[in-house]
Amino acid sequence: MKLNIKNTFTTALPSDSNLENSRRQVENAAFSYVKPKKTSKPEVIHVSPEMADALHISDNALKSDFFRNIVTGNEIYPNTTPYAMCYGGHQFGNWAGQLGDGRAINLFEIEHQNKNWKVQLKGAGETPYSRTADGLAVLRSSIREYLCAEAMFHLNVPTTRSLSLSLSGDNVLRDVLYDGNPAYEKGAIVSRISPSFLRFGNFEILAARKDIKNLKKLVNYTIKHHFAHLGKPCKESYINFFKEVSERTLKMIIDWQRVGFVHGVMNTDNMSILGLTIDYGPYGWLEGFDFGWTPNTTDRQHKRYRYGNQPNIGLWNLYQLANTLYPIIEEVEPLNTILEQYKVDFEKQSLQMMKSKLGLVVSDEEDVKVIQELEDNLQLVETDMTIFFRNLSNFTDEKSGLELIKEAFYDAENVSDEVKNKWTTWFKKYTNRLALERNSSEERKTQMDLVNPKYVLRNYMSQLAIDEADKGNYALIDELFQLLKKPYAEQPENEKWFAKRPEWARNKVGCSMLSCSS
Ligand code: AMP
Ligand code: MG
Repeated sequence: MKLNIKNTFTTALPSDSNLENSRRQVENAAFSYVKPKKTSKPEVIHVSPEMADALHISDNALKSDFFRNIVTGNEIYPNTTPYAMCYGGHQFGNWAGQLGDGRAINLFEIEHQNKNWKVQLKGAGETPYSRTADGLAVLRSSIREYLCAEAMFHLNVPTTRSLSLSLSGDNVLRDVLYDGNPAYEKGAIVSRISPSFLRFGNFEILAARKDIKNLKKLVNYTIKHHFAHLGKPCKESYINFFKEVSERTLKMIIDWQRVGFVHGVMNTDNMSILGLTIDYGPYGWLEGFDFGWTPNTTDRQHKRYRYGNQPNIGLWNLYQLANTLYPIIEEVEPLNTILEQYKVDFEKQSLQMMKSKLGLVVSDEEDVKVIQELEDNLQLVETDMTIFFRNLSNFTDEKSGLELIKEAFYDAENVSDEVKNKWTTWFKKYTNRLALERNSSEERKTQMDLVNPKYVLRNYMSQLAIDEADKGNYALIDELFQLLKKPYAEQPENEKWFAKRPEWARNKVGCSMLSCSS
């Protein structure tokens, strides 16, 4: 396995002068050199061939012991120096100080076809940033991250990627419900890939420490390698950098809203500077459409990171980034203008996104109202978001409407006449609205089916794959992996996955509720 290795990050930025792997505050540095931990019986259980291909890793190499050892941290690729990054973050609205790669270790950069990819192991042992935790990850959360990142990629949602999923062979102690009943679980390691794993928090920690010299270095590096079109580092390119981060963040969140993805922990340390979905922890997929839903049990009380609040939190996080960049821009107004623009763009893009889900192309002044009423109706009784929108592309006339969406009701037998009447009223409006369109119904269906996925990684689906994998059977991981490569295709042979969450999964841990314990 011959890789085209680069090390732009570690060359351009200051490293921690302390080489000990001890937990500590790391100052005047962007990262610390650290080696992954050896594991007792590493075993690769799945790889993403698409990602391997992008990294120029051959099928043969994927099967080698060398590959297995590299992606489980048991061997270090020649002439590379793994490292953990220093970052801070605002967690649940409060500044949390230094966090950092506590259980992530960057191995190296691979350049292929003019693209630079960072290769990172998640769960490969402790680092100076592990604080009170062990630096390890368990199989259940690793399966969830591994599958979801690739699923999001195929849904056309900006995301970090997955290369491999492995067992470490070691057991890891976790208290899943935080109720004082810890138990051993199988340890696992995901190798994940991204052009950059930099987060808002990497910048925040430097500003918080008033380390403006290194903050500038980090911003300059980021512009040079990831926003090169913005030109040379100067006040103007710094402002444009913030503008583009803001735009990318918004675009990512609009995509989340479109497919019904709830991140669950939108702390600033989990916000990618490239606007990629990063750190798949207690995330979830909407089943019943509900603006108030969050999968994260830690956030059960305030629901800060609920589905309907994700766009606001994106903006809140951007305010933190604006404060961070202020010392190198030294002017409030351009930053404020960008933050104001986020609100305007959100309204515009959100409307545009919802219109596309409804197959609406032309503009009409009633559009906002039609969408508002739809969102209200979707929350009258538990109504499956994915099934509703997918079935809607088969809508032909107002009479068939209710029949068409019946499949999306979780308790179809007990939908009241009042609710049915509200839907009938809405379908009438929708019919009138469609009459303004110029597309044929076939054209509309084609276009709608490209934005309304048929298959998403429902929470119970991951859980089924996890339960099987715990028993040593990995076939379902592969089945879901293959299914989710074509989320917008009909795949009649996979119809069983186009189904509402089964009742047994309603209140099961891992299916509807997830803790941060991973
Ligand atoms: P998260 O909210 O899961 O993205 O994690 C927040 C912070 O906790 C990050 O700095 C992580 O590196 C750290 N962290 C989470 N789990 C572990 C673990 N098992 N060992 C060490 N650090 C962890
Ligand atoms: Mg994180």
